Amino acid sequence: IKANFSIVQDEAGKFMGLITVISDVTEQEKVDRERKEFVSNVSHELRTPLTTMRSYLEALTEGGAMEDKELAPQFLQVTQNETERMIRLVNDLLQLSKMDHKESTMYKERIDIIPLFHHILDRFDMNKAALIDFERKIPNEEIFVWVDKDKITQVIDNIMSNAIKYSPEGGKITFQVAKEVHRLRISISDQGGLGIAVEKLDKIFERFYRVDKARSRELGGTGLGLAISREIVVAHHGQIWASSIEGQGTTVYFTLPLVNRKRGGSRK
Ligand code: ADP
Repeated sequence: IKANFSIVQDEAGKFMGLITVISDVTEQEKVDRERKEFVSNVSHELRTPLTTMRSYLEALTEGGAMEDKELAPQFLQVTQNETERMIRLVNDLLQLSKMDHKESTMYKERIDIIPLFHHILDRFDMNKAALIDFERKIPNEEIFVWVDKDKITQVIDNIMSNAIKYSPEGGKITFQVAKEVHRLRISISDQGGLGIAVEKLDKIFERFYRVDKARSRELGGTGLGLAISREIVVAHHGQIWASSIEGQGTTVYFTLPLVNRKRGGSRK
């Protein structure tokens, strides 16, 4: 905490009083530190794929791998994958930046969200990764909420693809929807044996935080999916959190406020 004192005098120089301005420097320092950390993270995240690509391109051009009919396509594939990951990363960063500056528009509408859930899950059923079982526990009734459909779809896509990434072969992913007093609670549970340690459960929603950096990178992750999901859920006045038990798996939850059916809720 920083305190600034100013002495107030009248025209004749007589002491009139004291003005004290107390400011919370710790908060300001925290923001500064986070900003610096973010810039350093972004630089690092971009440099890694770029240096990988440089070595592969060098091997192709100078190392003579270009002439090798087997190696050349493999090396080109690596540079292609890295390029795609960089594009994903930059797109994620742009989306976060827009949300930070409140430039990203939410197209919220009042909808019965149950068919949307089924639609999203049907999509996952169609491209089902080998040997993963999906279970739906969704109430069979109309449930109205105010949402931006595309953004909520993105949240579910992010959480679902993490669940798939960390699922063991033959694992089950359960998508559950529970109606509470004023909110709808959506949860996605997997059986990923590693789970997430308790002290890391909040951190996974931070930008660039990954429990296992190498693993996330290998799986094509940007480390921003859950940070974006949190921004979207918060913009819907909901909450997002996770629980995990080692040996059993992880559950990610988020909530959406329910809309009063008769009055149709308030438009924001
Ligand atoms: P990433 O692109 O790395 O998946 P996310 O923001 O989506 O980034 O997730 C952040 C981190 O949280 C992941 O790197 C992973 O360590 C952890 N995580 C997320 N979902 C799960 C899950 N279902 N099981 C285990 N770990 C998870």
